[in-house]
Amino acid sequence: MCLAKNKYIIQEKILENKKINPDDKIILTEVFFGIMFIETHAEYETEYERLLIAGRFMGKIVLPDGNTLDISNGTTAEQLAGQIGQGLARAAVAAKINGRLVDLSTPINPDVAGDQTTVQIITAKDDEGLDVMRHSCAHVMAEAICSIWPDTKLVYGPTVEDGFYYDVDLDEPIRPTDFERIEEKMAEIVKADRPFVRIEMTRDEALKKLASDKYKIDNIERADGDVISFYSHGDGFEDLCRGPHVPSTGKIGSFKIMSVAGAYWHGDPTLKMLQRIYGTAWPTKKELDDYLQRIEEAKKRDHRVLGKQLDLFSFNDAGPGFAFIHPKGMIIWNNIVDFWRSVHDRYEYDEIRTPIILNEQLWHQSGHWDNYKENMYFTNVDEVGYAIKPMNCPGGCLVYKTRQHSYREFPMRVAELGLVHRHEASGVMHGLFRVRQFTQDDAHIFCMPEQIESEIIGVIELTFEMYQAFGFEDFHIELSTKPEKHIGSDEIWETATNALEEALRHKNIDYKINEGDGAFYGPKIDFHVRDCLKRSWQLGTIQLDFSMPERFGLVYTDSDNTEKTPVMIHRAVLGSFERFIGILIEHYGASFPLWLSPEQVRILPISEKFNDYAKTVEDKLTGAQLRCSCDFSNEKIGAKIAKAHGEKLPYMLVVGSKEAQSNTVNVRIRSVKENKTVEIDEFLNIAREKIADKKIDLEF
Ligand SMILES: [Zn+2]
Ligand SMILES: [Zn+2]
Repeated sequence: MCLAKNKYIIQEKILENKKINPDDKIILTEVFFGIMFIETHAEYETEYERLLIAGRFMGKIVLPDGNTLDISNGTTAEQLAGQIGQGLARAAVAAKINGRLVDLSTPINPDVAGDQTTVQIITAKDDEGLDVMRHSCAHVMAEAICSIWPDTKLVYGPTVEDGFYYDVDLDEPIRPTDFERIEEKMAEIVKADRPFVRIEMTRDEALKKLASDKYKIDNIERADGDVISFYSHGDGFEDLCRGPHVPSTGKIGSFKIMSVAGAYWHGDPTLKMLQRIYGTAWPTKKELDDYLQRIEEAKKRDHRVLGKQLDLFSFNDAGPGFAFIHPKGMIIWNNIVDFWRSVHDRYEYDEIRTPIILNEQLWHQSGHWDNYKENMYFTNVDEVGYAIKPMNCPGGCLVYKTRQHSYREFPMRVAELGLVHRHEASGVMHGLFRVRQFTQDDAHIFCMPEQIESEIIGVIELTFEMYQAFGFEDFHIELSTKPEKHIGSDEIWETATNALEEALRHKNIDYKINEGDGAFYGPKIDFHVRDCLKRSWQLGTIQLDFSMPERFGLVYTDSDNTEKTPVMIHRAVLGSFERFIGILIEHYGASFPLWLSPEQVRILPISEKFNDYAKTVEDKLTGAQLRCSCDFSNEKIGAKIAKAHGEKLPYMLVVGSKEAQSNTVNVRIRSVKENKTVEIDEFLNIAREKIADKKIDLEF
């Protein structure tokens, strides 16, 4: 008998599935991580041909580090993780096969034909893994709630930043006092480490199965594809879900139920009010504790509270959503404006100012009327319809059109600190974060198509420079592509999107793609920063626009003397000044760096005997452009210091007889225990240096 000594690697499970008895058909040579290395006899080759046809054969996969690995078709992502390393197998929560996030139990079928199959094992350290873990925790919470209140109807349980929620329909209200027993039940389910099992059926079968559940029927109707999946995690609990989930409940880390609120189904107030239970989950207890501490810290830093306490801004019922900026707030504002101007000057921008109220016709022409009308304010002037600008672009186009332009002027960068009004629903307004009137640090760049990439690179550099000046070091970028509601042709969209991607690649910047999330007139790049409490804020944006220049008939004369349409780039760096100041207040906890502090120094004489010396010091500092004052009150020095601390002043200069005699000041620095005595000039020089360098720290 002729023996073909071909060595194959075939999974034990596949042999079982194929009803092959390993003893009959193959010689088992080795068992390694559940995979058998086997030798075959020629007479059984037809069997292997059958396996080949079934696609059950070896294939190559590419790992994130670029290395390739041979695996047998049908190897699950979980088994692969085990092959790579036991540590990874323990940490794994999901996998990405060819970019698609899937359960770890998903079999990998590398394409033998040659196309590369990429596989990435996802752990809770990855954002997507954390999301899978949190979403799985939502299922566990749903099971816990259903076990306590069997009448509960489950609606929808997605993840949100830092956690998840589940909307439930239950007549009895769930109260914060119930959270503990829900958490206890959840802990039991997690401890039991029950596997999440995926069950697939056809859409018709699923609709039949859930015929009595209007919420789940609605979810099925909104789901894509014909295969509908359910997940059970043992104990009879099952929920409709497209997945993926962690392999078993034991993979869910530390969690906590945070709050409960009313929520309408599909946000429709005419429908029954549901209960939305919010929770959070983290890989470890320490991460959960840190998060809860950050929440506490965020409450202390609430800009609405600090803004009132430090007299920076206010709101009034006379104009909900319209901020009143007070003198101290304006000092911060103007310093940001000065900085903004100096940077834009260096990056060769010109500044303009355009009207707030413009004829309705202009907004028809710009496309805003058709696409943005519900967010706009309108007025009549001499019986003619006018709109209050929600964006600065049309005004910028009118300035462009006042004269002829040549390609030689390009790129033409025109900035505007434009006051815009956008109607926000009263329920979503939130201090300075969400207002109806704000100043946008806008700019429009007019250029030729071949200049797009270098212009985008310039904007990215300017943006990063500005963020760093405020102490934001952690930022990321998202690229949003063509939305359903849009103007402009598909070709134009593709060209614009490619140019943005090229610029990001050139700068070696990682970015996330948000499919269909672009502005109606073009694709965009959004800049997000993380504050010191790790909260993410979207600030800047770059939006390409091939449509508006055409709508406004903008042209330039090219080198061949023909008239062409310029490319228009809209961009903002800080976004809204109002919102940015709100973010800064919370980021710094109102302990502003010296250059932004409304009052930089306060001089505190220890008794009225030294008021004259204090005044001399104040004059000297004021003369050097420092913002300072003297506390001439009758309070004791301890009370004066406490007051200045409460106002979060960067520097307090205590002066008494010793200081008056030696022309010195005793410096107390915000949040620093030690104080030191230095000559006035020395203090002045250090303070001026910190202001000029926009230093965040105050120590010297
Ligand atoms: Zn799910
Ligand atoms: Zn614009």
